[in-house]
Amino acid sequence: MATMRFIKPDLKWQIDNIACQNEVSLDTAPLSSEPGFLLWQKDIPKPYWELAGQELSQRVRAARAKLGDKVLILGHHYQREDIIQFADLKGDSFKLAKWASEQQDAEYIVFCGVHFMAEAADVLSQPHQKVLLPNMAAGCTMADMADPDDVNDCWQQLSDLGLAGDTMPVTYMNSTASLKALCGRNGGIVCTSSNAGAVLEWSFAQRQRVLFFPDQHLGRNTGVKLGIPLDQMLVWDFDLPLGGHTPEALAAARIILWRGWCSVHMRFSVQQIEATRAKYPGVNVLVHPECKLEVVQAADYNGSTEYIHKMITEAPAGSVWAVGTEINLVSRIARENPDKTVFCLDPVVCPCSTMYRIHPAYLCWVLEELVEGRMHNHLIVEPETAKWAKVALDRMLTVH
Ligand code: SF4
Repeated sequence: MATMRFIKPDLKWQIDNIACQNEVSLDTAPLSSEPGFLLWQKDIPKPYWELAGQELSQRVRAARAKLGDKVLILGHHYQREDIIQFADLKGDSFKLAKWASEQQDAEYIVFCGVHFMAEAADVLSQPHQKVLLPNMAAGCTMADMADPDDVNDCWQQLSDLGLAGDTMPVTYMNSTASLKALCGRNGGIVCTSSNAGAVLEWSFAQRQRVLFFPDQHLGRNTGVKLGIPLDQMLVWDFDLPLGGHTPEALAAARIILWRGWCSVHMRFSVQQIEATRAKYPGVNVLVHPECKLEVVQAADYNGSTEYIHKMITEAPAGSVWAVGTEINLVSRIARENPDKTVFCLDPVVCPCSTMYRIHPAYLCWVLEELVEGRMHNHLIVEPETAKWAKVALDRMLTVH
């Protein structure tokens, strides 16, 4: 483990000035003024389009208070500030999935995150519970890179080669319920960035090879941590027969990585780390394992959003952190740790644009309609898919 570093306090103001801007305001702008609204869910009644600021916030709180224990609001760490303030529980996808499986009293789980997370909550919750996603257009570009038809086709090709029996299908949480079901049906498992290492160890204890989707970087970084040589990890190109490999190469592979990535974490680079170190000697660099291998290797530390949060929270006062993950989380950690200096590794990084789609107007609409006895955006995973997805998710919850 790298030695934790410190930096001169007088550099703090400079860092504050280069750190990128995020959604720090609780004074929400109306939906109609959001440039991305054109691509978001539109069937929200027009009066909500113009709601903003304090009125919006007061209405969310009033509806929340009327619903009481009937509602649980879950918020992912990457949610904007004017949403996370309403979350009863906040965490990464692993923590939120675990909570969804444990909180059995709330009738409604309002999931402030993205589509695949709400699907997982529906699969893990009890039959009497209903999961609502405030904006159905809140997806994940990485999850979209693993089209279920393409992954099923890959699995079929491995079966035709006689390799599927030796291959453990492992899907990252960031995937559709149908891909989690594919894993469940075939002895496989779901992982998150919190438990990817333990999941790969669990997999290799049973089979000689892993098919890991959709994030090649988390798969590769985790494989390297376990000591698997890079030449035993192949990237499956879903546009090519056999993913672009020979049957012999696939048979020899330890990890077959899907060609997917996170557009937010792909922005971080070794050049940024070098520039940050040159400008701020003594800085600690901490990145998420969805970053490229060379970035993870150039950093001092890497880990899940929960790890990042814990690491900085428990760090000594005066320590300085350049963080490679989504900006809303970085800025929140910075505000929660005023005795440390925390900033984003990429000075111009944008927030996750799909997480950002959970605007408070959607939350207000969903809650006020529940108060009136009407339910919108109820997310339901088809029962057969849910059954097998749950098998893979339950395995995930037992592996740490
Ligand atoms: S940060 Fe990346 S992986 Fe996470 S929801 Fe956004 S696009 Fe998907």
